[in-house]
Amino acid sequence: MAYTVQEAAEKILAPIRSLGAELVALRSAHGRVLAEDIISPIEHPPWDNSSMDGYAVRASDVSRASSSSPVRLRVLETVAAGQRPTQSLEPNTAIRVMTGAPVPDGADSVIRVEDTDAGENTVEIRDARDAGRNVRPRGEDLQPGRVAVPRGITIGAAQLGVLASVGCVEVPVHRRPRVAVLSSGDELVGVDEFDAVRRGDRIVSSNSYTICASVLDAGGEVVDLGIVRDDPDAYVERIAAARGCDLLVTTGGVSVGAFDFTKDVLTSLGAELHLWRIRMRPGAPLGFGMLHDMPWLGLPGNPVSAMVTFELFGKPLIRKQRGESLIFRRTIDVRAREEITIAAPLTHFLRAVVTWENDGAWARLTGPQGSGLLTSMARANALLVVPPDRAVVKAGECLRALPLSDAGYSATFDV
Ligand code: AMP
Ligand code: MG
Repeated sequence: MAYTVQEAAEKILAPIRSLGAELVALRSAHGRVLAEDIISPIEHPPWDNSSMDGYAVRASDVSRASSSSPVRLRVLETVAAGQRPTQSLEPNTAIRVMTGAPVPDGADSVIRVEDTDAGENTVEIRDARDAGRNVRPRGEDLQPGRVAVPRGITIGAAQLGVLASVGCVEVPVHRRPRVAVLSSGDELVGVDEFDAVRRGDRIVSSNSYTICASVLDAGGEVVDLGIVRDDPDAYVERIAAARGCDLLVTTGGVSVGAFDFTKDVLTSLGAELHLWRIRMRPGAPLGFGMLHDMPWLGLPGNPVSAMVTFELFGKPLIRKQRGESLIFRRTIDVRAREEITIAAPLTHFLRAVVTWENDGAWARLTGPQGSGLLTSMARANALLVVPPDRAVVKAGECLRALPLSDAGYSATFDV
């Protein structure tokens, strides 16, 4: 039975669970998914502090200050960030404070230095606009016992900073999936055997490179099982090396050719097959099943089909294992630059270049769409999605596109 792409995504993701937690050093937690709520043990900031370089004062002492009628106050002391005031503020006095320095008892305002004569022993206040302002209360950012960073969050720069602020030197994060990648085909060699390619006898197993890189892109760890011949025994032996991995990805041998053994080998090893064909192009033959506890994704051998199916199903699978809550890439609305016809009622994923114009995003195809044309994948920044019921899409009509690269970048400063 052939499934739609939506059904296939559901079937593939249903048995996938987030992996257990491990503790990693704070800096290594960058990019990982937090497995537990992190509770703050402290209050931050730990003291009422100044948000300005200026003079801590009482609002009532300065409320009538102006440039024509300044108020002069005695300066009791100077407090830098990292120091503490040694005294409380008395009426008609000021304490000179720097940004971040504790505000002394009795003060409710910090007058910015720009509104004063910057005096050291006495100070002239020339504006009342800061009366009652510029004091950051203690505990404004973090309170003890409260969640500082919630579980399920992907740890980016800001989250890392908060974790550091609350002293989380070891961070509980979901384990990164270890992904075994195996390519099959008698015609394949690694790039180290390029002489055979030059002689015209072999082709490079580009899937070994594209899929391993895509695993890394999705945040998995690669266990490269290399290339295996189209021989069931060799296949069985090689798959044994995937033991202990969280996912097995194979490429090739899932079609109906005389030497397409992948399915038979997996079944002979006791795999439960959940899915075999998807109503999509490229990449219709796609195997998915569970080999005991390990999910197996059987990508087609054609380089573009392998990449597209991995993009659609493999990356969300890895993201789910990583504990990510948002696992699917968001599509964007684009308009077709040219007329597009599709030959079969399948969901098509066409390699395209999306550009942002003044009137919105436009997509043009990278050229011929054969599933062996990896250079057209290398030129694309998106996959244009043509639903099965849109046999003809006219130029200017709307479609959705799945960004491949960081299509969010621009050569011009866009703020
Ligand atoms: P298969 O799915 O094994 O029938 O292969 C389909 C097509 O993809 C054939 O033209 C293969 O030569 C090609 N192919 C299979 N595996 C790879 C690979 N790892 N790298 C590049 N091309 C491949
Ligand atoms: Mg093959």
